[in-house]
Amino acid sequence: QPLIGVLAVQGDVVDHARALEAAGARVRAVRRPEELEGLDGLVIPGGESTTIDRLCRIFGLHEPIRAQIAEGMPVYGSCAGMIQLADQILDGHREQQTFGGIDMTVRRNAFGRQVDSFETDLGIDGLAEPDRPYRAVFIRAPWVERLGEDVEVLARADDHPVAVRQGNLLATSFHPEVTEDHRVHELFVRMVRERA
Ligand code: GLN
Repeated sequence: QPLIGVLAVQGDVVDHARALEAAGARVRAVRRPEELEGLDGLVIPGGESTTIDRLCRIFGLHEPIRAQIAEGMPVYGSCAGMIQLADQILDGHREQQTFGGIDMTVRRNAFGRQVDSFETDLGIDGLAEPDRPYRAVFIRAPWVERLGEDVEVLARADDHPVAVRQGNLLATSFHPEVTEDHRVHELFVRMVRERA
């Protein structure tokens, strides 16, 4: 079974761990740089991206995670995690930095300006049972405003890309960890196995 880390400085850590285990992975909570060693993949949970960013820099995790991304480690970010995987962000905190890796511009809280949270049925490319809709939960979610040509769009909501993939990096605006449908985590575990 692949060993997947969940960045555990802030946010929705426990639910991601549970979903990853249900999808067939072993899980390690990552709070210190040493805990990145030997991982097959990493999840950046939803939460508050400004806080995740600040704590990662304080704990010395920012540079090692950037380095792992550059080396091709599979990383999945949901919501705040999507923001942290974007090369550029809009409406970020003044000093906010991202890990980057996906050639896209993401606007924070963009859906949230319209409605704080909502659920909708999506068709997501690459999931098992493609004909069964995926019920996606959005909470103060970002949307993607610009995409580079190497980025693949796996799902859209209201014409906005909400699930994207570039190489070994996967990002969703929504929170698959809060539902019992583990197909997004299964997709990520498959990406991890294919790389390993
Ligand atoms: N709005 C949050 C942020 O900017 C993300 C919300 C979430 O992860 N549910 O980080």
